Amino acid sequence: MKIDRDYIINLVSSISNITDSEINSVLEKASKQKGLTHKEVAVLLAIKKPEHIKKMFSIAERIKQDIYGKRIVIFAPLYVSDYCVNKCSYCGYKIDNDFNRRRLTQNEVATQVKHLQKMGHKRVALEAGEDPQNCNLDYILECLDTIYNTKVDNGSIRRVNVNIAATTVEEYKKLSKAGIGTYILFQEVYDKVAYEKVHLKGPKANYDFHLNAMDRAMEAGIDDVGGGILFGLSDYRFEILAIMMHNEYLEKTYNTGFHTVSVPRLKKAEGMNLSDFPNIIDDETFKKIVAVIRIAVPFAGLILSTRESMEMRAEVIRYGVSQISSGSCTGVGAYKDESEEELSPSQFLVHDDRSSLEINKWLLKDNQLPSYCTACYRSGRTGEDFMHLAHSGDIQTFCHPNSLITLLEYSLDYGDDEFKELAQEKIDRELKLMPSDKVKDTTIKYLDRIRNGERDLCL
Ligand code: SF4
Repeated sequence: MKIDRDYIINLVSSISNITDSEINSVLEKASKQKGLTHKEVAVLLAIKKPEHIKKMFSIAERIKQDIYGKRIVIFAPLYVSDYCVNKCSYCGYKIDNDFNRRRLTQNEVATQVKHLQKMGHKRVALEAGEDPQNCNLDYILECLDTIYNTKVDNGSIRRVNVNIAATTVEEYKKLSKAGIGTYILFQEVYDKVAYEKVHLKGPKANYDFHLNAMDRAMEAGIDDVGGGILFGLSDYRFEILAIMMHNEYLEKTYNTGFHTVSVPRLKKAEGMNLSDFPNIIDDETFKKIVAVIRIAVPFAGLILSTRESMEMRAEVIRYGVSQISSGSCTGVGAYKDESEEELSPSQFLVHDDRSSLEINKWLLKDNQLPSYCTACYRSGRTGEDFMHLAHSGDIQTFCHPNSLITLLEYSLDYGDDEFKELAQEKIDRELKLMPSDKVKDTTIKYLDRIRNGERDLCL
């Protein structure tokens, strides 16, 4: 994978010459919900007129509705180690920050997992800084084993997505064998000049090794990979075009593009000042970014973290975001009972600190459908197979019923009275709207089995 910096810079400069008729023609193509090329994405980035903006948001909203329905996949991050040998100027874990670093023992990992299970989580993103001595791959594999094998009551973590540093094909092979969900690695910033300005020391400073990590992961047999940009480190237009080109490259080379795209925005962290970053983006631009990505890659999950406020999350869920973290703690060992004190600093500040239950109630009241489904990956619907199903629309046959089944499971095991009522109303409403009687009948049977005490059922 190569990023042609001059080509993208030229494309960004050409954006100012894009005409209304080009914009209308790309919006017309966008409404067909088949995605866009990076050159077409450049046209969307030229949009300034209110009527075009309105149309773009309404297309994004329709895509979100038609492909994902009201489902919002819920997950939580699990930080296992804050040792890091890198100096990424924007991050609270950078090597220069002086604090008592630690990595969790396997007992502590199990304790964290129990906290997450008591919150109802089924899907976690395992997070660790990069430190080959204090946090090597064997340690990560042990953590995976502990996470999958820790169970409290009806709880279980059924999918672990892994967000660890770029590594070798051999190590990716081991990760693949360990049964990870998606391997997530944010490029952070695709513009090499900007990349080198913020990655000042350590293995992550090697731009090419970082950029080509997805090739090595694919070569090792990991076919679900997730990319991301840390918005605020460089011109967002360059970054969006670059990640689209990266996605096109993956599709062409491996028949499957990014399974997920994450859209974190730079936030305050220990040892950095936001005023040192001239490319911070405002809320209006951020909303447009979400809409553009939703339109460009309709079948890629779009992930938003608790970096964003409740208000911003509500808005971007409408026209793009399909996965959110909830009840998140972004420090090592940070999930705890209220009486325990904070031990470790966070990687970044969280702006939505509601509990998982509060977030789920909020979603249901907003007519959204929180989903704890992890079925696709566990049924082998990954990579090219997943994309094939998604493009044909068949994924709806699985995802929608599974989201209802996991919602009922959550409601019975972790919901209070108010939640149980909200969930039941939602399930009844969604069943009425199901177009296929066959799928509806099967879903009702599965829901009854859950009510009768069975768990972990899926279509
Ligand atoms: S972003 Fe990752 S690699 Fe960079 S300092 Fe933070 S934890 Fe380390």
